[in-house]
Amino acid sequence: MPLIILTGYPTSGKTHRAKQLQSYLQSRISSLSTTSPSSTLRVHLISDHTLAIPRNVYNLETKSQHERSNHASEKDARATIYAAVKRVLSSKDIVILDGANYIKGWRYQLYCEAKAVRTPHCVVHVGTPVERARGVNDERLSRRTAAAAAGGEADDVGEEDQPYESECWENLVYRYEEPNAMARWDAPLFTVLWEDEMLPCDAIWDALVGSDAEGGKKTV
Ligand code: ADP
Ligand code: MG
Repeated sequence: MPLIILTGYPTSGKTHRAKQLQSYLQSRISSLSTTSPSSTLRVHLISDHTLAIPRNVYNLETKSQHERSNHASEKDARATIYAAVKRVLSSKDIVILDGANYIKGWRYQLYCEAKAVRTPHCVVHVGTPVERARGVNDERLSRRTAAAAAGGEADDVGEEDQPYESECWENLVYRYEEPNAMARWDAPLFTVLWEDEMLPCDAIWDALVGSDAEGGKKTV
């Protein structure tokens, strides 16, 4: 059914929130009566990680002549993500898109895709302050350096938990385009803060699935 677009700085906690939301939705759906039209909804979590897109597509090359290829790799990554969303988005599927989704025009494109298949969408802003998010990345960089100094490889660290190179991280923050609840492609907009135990899951459910779950009218 709906498309849920996460957005936030790199290492702001998007994957953590995406997983929380996924388990909330799965248990909410399984608690529905089998007569409810929403009891057959499937939940899909799509991210760079699930599509095997490596962190380094966001890396910056040092000189401007390489910038094209850098942007091209990001563009390719977006095309892969777009195709994956398009493949599963339907009236029977909830898609959680875990990623920075930091370009306004890209969020607009995803919004249009949801509109095209007549399904609702929303944006969830993981509103972690920049210093906190940077701290998480710095910690990962230090761990990697320590592992390298010890002659080991950080093999036990999965791709999802790999650091971004510092300049790349700073550049992603620099390019980040904050969501705006007044823009129709960013609305409805939900925000989750670092200190929050949970996302506003009930409000997200009500906005996207709503009374449809109880067999009532669709709230699209
Ligand atoms: P992102 O997907 O945005 O890069 P992650 O979800 O991988 O970020 O989170 C980065 C790190 O911060 C992880 O180790 C995660 O467990 C931790 N983390 C994320 N959100 C929180 C939070 N709200 N409170 C405490 N730790 C968090
Ligand atoms: Mg992540």
